[in-house]
Amino acid sequence: MADAFDEYCDLLFKAVLIGDSGVGKSNLLSRFAKDEFRLDSKPTIGVEFAYRNVKVGDKLIKAQIWDTAGQERFRAITSSYYRGALGALLVYDISRRSSYESVRKWLWELREFGNEDMVVILVGNKCDLEQSREVEKEEGKGFAETEGLCFMETSALHNVNVEDAFLQMITKIHDVTSHKSL
Ligand code: GDP
Repeated sequence: MADAFDEYCDLLFKAVLIGDSGVGKSNLLSRFAKDEFRLDSKPTIGVEFAYRNVKVGDKLIKAQIWDTAGQERFRAITSSYYRGALGALLVYDISRRSSYESVRKWLWELREFGNEDMVVILVGNKCDLEQSREVEKEEGKGFAETEGLCFMETSALHNVNVEDAFLQMITKIHDVTSHKSL
C-alpha cells in the first residue's frame, strides 16, 4: 500500500505542533497520523514530521505536520520551524498549570515567526486526567476566545477529539487559503 507521501494530492499544507515539553504533542501526532498511542519516549532530538491525506470538499489535501521532537526543551526552535506553516496546534496539558501559563509565550512566538494569518487551535490535552485537572475548560476556552483562536480539549491516550482538532485546523486552513486565492 502506498503511504500518504506517495499518493497524489491537490494541495500541500504545512502545520506545526507547539507547546511545552511533555504536553503530548508527539502522541497527538502519532494518533492522528497512524492512529496509535506511543508509550515510548522520543528517541532523537530534531524535527520530526508526519503526513496524512485528508479530503476537504472535492480537494485531497496532504497535511504535513511538524513536531518539535524535544527541541522546545532547549528553546532551540528556529524560524525555519515556522516558515511556511499555515496552521498550528498550540498544546498545553490540563493537568499541568505551568504548561497553560506558557501558552502566551508560545503564542507570542507563533505571531513573531509565523505566517500572519496562521490558523491556531488551542488544545488542552490529557482531558482523561480529570481528577488531576489544574486548568478548567472554561478558562482555556475563554482565553482562546479573547485571542481569536479555536479551542478544543483532547486526550491522545483515549483518542478523544484528536481527529477533530487536526481536521478543524486543516479545514480552516483550506478556508483561509481558498478565500485568499479568489
Ligand atoms: P511532547 O513532549 O509534548 O511531545 O509529549 P509526549 O507526546 O512525548 O507525551 C508526554 C507524556 O505524556 C508521555 O508520557 C505520554 O505517554 C503522556 N501523554 C500524552 N498524551 C496523553 C494523554 O492524552 N493523556 C495522558 N494521560 N497522558 C498522555
